[in-house]
Amino acid sequence: MRLFAAVIPPAREVDELGLTVERLRSLPGADALRWTGRPGWHYTLAFMGEVDESLLPELHERLGRAARRTPVFPLRIHGGGHFGRRALWVGAAGGLEEMRLLAERADAAARRSGVGMEEHRRYQAHLTIARARADADMRPFVEELDTFEGTPWDVAELTLVRSNLPVSGVRGEQPRYEVVGSWSLGGAG
Ligand code: ATP
Ligand code: MG
Repeated sequence: MRLFAAVIPPAREVDELGLTVERLRSLPGADALRWTGRPGWHYTLAFMGEVDESLLPELHERLGRAARRTPVFPLRIHGGGHFGRRALWVGAAGGLEEMRLLAERADAAARRSGVGMEEHRRYQAHLTIARARADADMRPFVEELDTFEGTPWDVAELTLVRSNLPVSGVRGEQPRYEVVGSWSLGGAG
């Protein structure tokens, strides 16, 4: 199964961002982008790709440990950016050092469980809100996001998400993303 570890913002912060994304979607050029579904909004910590089922018990164990070792930290949705001319995202502010630490720990947990992890570039906290099928000018959207400051919340959980790649025309298709595990950070409830 295709898996990734993530931080999922609470509903209230998702609603806030939703209002701003509605505005972005009315800008010229917005129709050329594929906007991501709001129920699936997440900050990826570590992308694992295809993971063999036999690795799951150890992976769960190690992700739990990674979470426990990391203290709860504050985060807020902040500004935006783009990767190349294909991906538009909103960033984060607050406990970015803790978030990076959690990402590194999730990556190490997966690697030690036997998941073949790609070498990663420097961790950049981002929540993808749109993708372009062809090169697009992301600047107007990023400018609009420049002043966006979400309400801070405490990140208290690391979540393991299964990604079901879309199969067109299949009836009763499973949800796109499915939470398959979550672990409390150190000191959380
Ligand atoms: P789609 O691939 O259909 O556009 P998606 O990218 O949301 O949708 P996945 O490809 O399963 O779905 O990716 C799940 C999450 O992991 C997304 O946030 C995605 O940006 C991230 N991701 C995917 N591939 C990688 C990768 N090679 N390195 C880092 N993050 C990745
Ligand atoms: Mg993808």
